[in-house]
Amino acid sequence: MNRPILIVASLALVTALVAWLVFRSNPSTLVKVEGGAKQPKETVEVILGLKTCEVCGYDALKEAGMACMNCGYAINQQTMAQEMLADEHSLVIQYQLDYFLPDTLGSPIHFMKPRVSKKGYPKSATWKPLVFESEVFEYHKVITELEQARTPGKPQ
Ligand SMILES: [Zn+2]
Repeated sequence: MNRPILIVASLALVTALVAWLVFRSNPSTLVKVEGGAKQPKETVEVILGLKTCEVCGYDALKEAGMACMNCGYAINQQTMAQEMLADEHSLVIQYQLDYFLPDTLGSPIHFMKPRVSKKGYPKSATWKPLVFESEVFEYHKVITELEQARTPGKPQ
């Protein structure tokens, strides 16, 4: 038998075996996530072992004060200064109003859903939003009115 062929064949066998072992070792980390009304469900790998983000409630923070890997917001001295807010609590509320803003005015807001984000981060079971649905709706109304007022040519 030809020697190089034998080497290639055994390498392929080892690769397949390693791939199978890796796949076998964490079969439970794959979940279906809701892709929205029009999108099909997707399979994502759940990323575990991170800290809870106060803004979005997903476990997607490497360190406190860093930008969340799910929503992108960071709660720290710099962002507090940027938003001109004196305390973390007010900053979390401001960011939650932006994060949970629905696409359509008045559509229900699911604070605890989906259980796993599209990026694969799990929702913390102990996290609670600081804003109410009614406050998000109120905020949405105000910014929609502001945008309309700013658009030239539109009646005010
Ligand atoms: Zn977040």
